[in-house]
Amino acid sequence: MSPPASDLFSVKTIPGAGRGIIASRDISEDTTVLNSEPPVAHVLFREYRKEVCAHCFLYDRGRTLRVKDHDTGKVFCSASCQQEWLVHTGEQGRRAWQDLHHLIQTKSKSGKNSGGISLTDHRPDIEDVDRRWEKAQGEADEYVRTRSDTSNALDDTGRKQAKGAVASSTDPDIVGYLLSGILYHDQQPDRWREAVMTLAMHDEPYATTHDLEAHCNSFVQLSSSMPVSLLRSCTVQVCRALAAVSSHNAFGIRSGGEDGEEYMGYGVYPSASYFNHSCRPNVAKQRVGNVWKFWVTKDVRQGEELCISYLGGDEKDLNVRQRRGHLREVWGFICECARCQREGKASQDGG
Ligand SMILES: [Zn+2]
Ligand SMILES: [Zn+2]
Repeated sequence: MSPPASDLFSVKTIPGAGRGIIASRDISEDTTVLNSEPPVAHVLFREYRKEVCAHCFLYDRGRTLRVKDHDTGKVFCSASCQQEWLVHTGEQGRRAWQDLHHLIQTKSKSGKNSGGISLTDHRPDIEDVDRRWEKAQGEADEYVRTRSDTSNALDDTGRKQAKGAVASSTDPDIVGYLLSGILYHDQQPDRWREAVMTLAMHDEPYATTHDLEAHCNSFVQLSSSMPVSLLRSCTVQVCRALAAVSSHNAFGIRSGGEDGEEYMGYGVYPSASYFNHSCRPNVAKQRVGNVWKFWVTKDVRQGEELCISYLGGDEKDLNVRQRRGHLREVWGFICECARCQREGKASQDGG
């Protein structure tokens, strides 16, 4: 499924810019060029857990949604969304969410602090990352060994150990993001290989050692609590890939579609990640439920690149220097789009 197939465009290697989407014929304004698949991994932030439908991401101006699954803590906009979520998630998946919900609740009741962020915290390099994950693997192995192969439920010992794992800095949003990806991996291992492992990966995806710590602890926590049948997908490799793809392939899930005021979470949509950025894009996007729709906003000639904007809201109004600075910081590239080249030159000429 990845790269996306279409008779309107093809994915090509662009000198100096990785891969990009090139129109394979003239496309007229307003033509839809891509409907993405649902996210392969996503998170709805915990502060929105009562307000956003776990299936279709509907947000009703902050109202608490009525349909609630008390075992998993998920809410839905309707009974049919709940039903679809169940079908999509499967019985094992639901059980995994249930175990996680239980652990997070236990944790918040125990009132343990997740540990402050040190001011001297830094972005861990690849060696730090390797070393920390190796330690997490050892810890997870311990937990997995003590669990009975026949029982899917967590026994008392397992629960105690899991509590130990969550006592340190574990973030419910990180652990939820990882679980969603682990379930996807478990259900669709082939598509995982084709769609996720071929995405651009960030070498050093953890912004701080605190962040790295939280990812590793989340993995250990999941290893200790997840139904045994899912453990084959709860691996260091899967969790590291999920972090590595999130920084450069995730799309924000916002309340009003693209530029809504509420930033409710984010998701990884492989087919949509092939669009490069332009500060004057010819493709617009909108979230429709849990998928994205992309269409051209002007007539496009065969051979032209189809680009979206990675800038959100007010960021579009930044001047060229600020825009380039922001894109370099967040996305790791120096924008050389036509608009930046023209405005960059103009600002140089003007002194
Ligand atoms: Zn819904
Ligand atoms: Zn630009």
